[in-house]
Amino acid sequence: MALSHHQILRDVFGYAQFRGPQQDIVEHMVAGRDALVLMPTGGGKSLCYQIPAIARQRLGHGVTIVVSPLIALMHDQVGALHEAGVSAAFLNSTLSGDESYQIEQRMLRGEITLLYAAPERLTTPRFLALLDSLFERGLLSMFAIDEAHCVSQWGHDFRPEYRALTVLHERFAGVPRMALTATADALTREDIVERLQLEDARAFVSSFDRPNIRYTIVEKRDSTLQLLRFIEREHPGDAGIVYCQSRRKVEDMANTLVDAGINALPYHAGLDNKTRQTHQDRFLREEGIVMVATIAFGMGIDKPDVRFVAHLDMPKNIEGYYQETGRAGRDGLPANAWMAYGLQDVVNQRRMIDESPAGEDFKQVMRGKLDALLALAEATNCRRMRLLGYFGEQSQPCGNCDNCLHPPAVWDGTDAARKLLSTVYRIQQMSGMSFGAGHVMDVVRGKTTEKTSQYGHEALSTFGIGAGFSEMQLRGVLRQMIAMGAIHVDGQAFNTLQLTEQSRAVLRGEVPVLLRESAAEKDKRPKRNARLGAVVKAPISLDSEGLLRYSALKAWRAEVARQHNLPAYVIFHDATLAAIAQRAPQSLDDLQGISGIGIKKLEAYAEEVLRVVAIACVT
Ligand code: ADP
Ligand code: ZN
Repeated sequence: MALSHHQILRDVFGYAQFRGPQQDIVEHMVAGRDALVLMPTGGGKSLCYQIPAIARQRLGHGVTIVVSPLIALMHDQVGALHEAGVSAAFLNSTLSGDESYQIEQRMLRGEITLLYAAPERLTTPRFLALLDSLFERGLLSMFAIDEAHCVSQWGHDFRPEYRALTVLHERFAGVPRMALTATADALTREDIVERLQLEDARAFVSSFDRPNIRYTIVEKRDSTLQLLRFIEREHPGDAGIVYCQSRRKVEDMANTLVDAGINALPYHAGLDNKTRQTHQDRFLREEGIVMVATIAFGMGIDKPDVRFVAHLDMPKNIEGYYQETGRAGRDGLPANAWMAYGLQDVVNQRRMIDESPAGEDFKQVMRGKLDALLALAEATNCRRMRLLGYFGEQSQPCGNCDNCLHPPAVWDGTDAARKLLSTVYRIQQMSGMSFGAGHVMDVVRGKTTEKTSQYGHEALSTFGIGAGFSEMQLRGVLRQMIAMGAIHVDGQAFNTLQLTEQSRAVLRGEVPVLLRESAAEKDKRPKRNARLGAVVKAPISLDSEGLLRYSALKAWRAEVARQHNLPAYVIFHDATLAAIAQRAPQSLDDLQGISGIGIKKLEAYAEEVLRVVAIACVT
């Protein structure tokens, strides 16, 4: 039995080994059980249902229904299966009535292995009737519910339609079901089990580590310039995603990047459908595009060679951050997750929670989640240890995050914190009202302004007690205290600063306030004279002839992808092309065993690949 699963892995997908728990999951599903699969983005969830679907179809069980919220991506997902020689189809609103009918008939004849559909489609009377017919004939093999966190309001992509999926279990008893997600926090997980009635399902929980992703969180100064430097230094010509919070900022930033010679496109919910689809297609199909987007972009994007994910605004919580950054480096090659973070982010996120119409309990949970993310941003030790710790995983310092690579200098901000707090207190006492961060810092530093005169704050005993601190330092202290809850920013009252219960412990010196040394003075690395775009970079080191072959193979692949109307990586991954370029195969035999070449692709492309390799170094 296990042998045949390996055979499918090798023959259909061209991979030599299962990854992590894939094999156990495959066996569990082929045996007809239920499962909950928690695996990080890029962990290899697709094979966990695709291989059982193929195995079960061969055993005569019929079609596996894949529930996916992503209509815009179904075409490519199905196209990738066709490339591998698997019979797959999708049913969604982009098909004509006749096309849908043809697919339904093929399903009833047991000819389709995997069928993709969105949840709202699945629960229509017509679709349920089709499933009834399949069920009666014993041709309903399995349900795979992808992006299962969509069922939970605790996840970040709540889709009410997912709640209706309980019908599958009630109506088609005994048909094995699996739910898959990359969102692993306990709350969401419990919600998935409960909402989808998966109490008896076995949970497969993978390590959430993505060792090839390097995490970096920098202090926000001029974030545009910081981003440009980051791309210029580390990612010229690479594909990446830049997340911003607002539509307007997305537009502005995309323009800025384009002006700087970077191939950038905007994506947000305010663009019309067609533009969004075009930009998404271009991101998937062309090389080296930087997508500047709100979080509306990204779910289900399985482009393997996204080399960086940058955040210019802080996400709401670690789940969101991890999911978004996880879109980098699915191919396992080095990738960067980079975030610029500042005081304003803390203030904004707190305010959004305070002002949301949700109930107090819900807000409390959201605040807790935000705090965990703030603590990550303020951390002076390994980022990965904290991230994994959040998902319940113990680990050691990783050696591949900013804090591990360049341990930050730490300074004791306790004294500065106390000075800030007592100033907030004195101001409140004198004026009977609160003020914002800028004014408080002016008073602490003894800077005379119109406001300090107007309110007589120059007479305060704390005026100028912190004259020795730079504004940058005080900002850092404030940020940390807001993150700790030792200062509350009142979103209802012009973002004024207020003392909290925890302030007292800091004032009494019971809680130390340790801060990262501000990066302002450090960030003066020499500017490499990188030209943006137009660099041939291979994922492994190749000699000059190897690079020629690699470029030729990429050009060939682009042409094939265009003809098939599919993203290039669906034909072959970069890593596969690089392995071919390195091996310089002269015969079919030489191509054997290269990862990512299954039987179908060998049949379809071997001849052309050999031809491209042969002429690459001659011409
Ligand atoms: P997920 O859906 O969990 O984010 P995918 O299913 O898209 O991840 O897989 C991520 C990448 O890893 C894909 O490019 C896939 O082809 C590759 N992959 C998955 N399983 C294996 C394996 N056993 N060996 C080699 N590559 C694999
Ligand atoms: Zn680390």
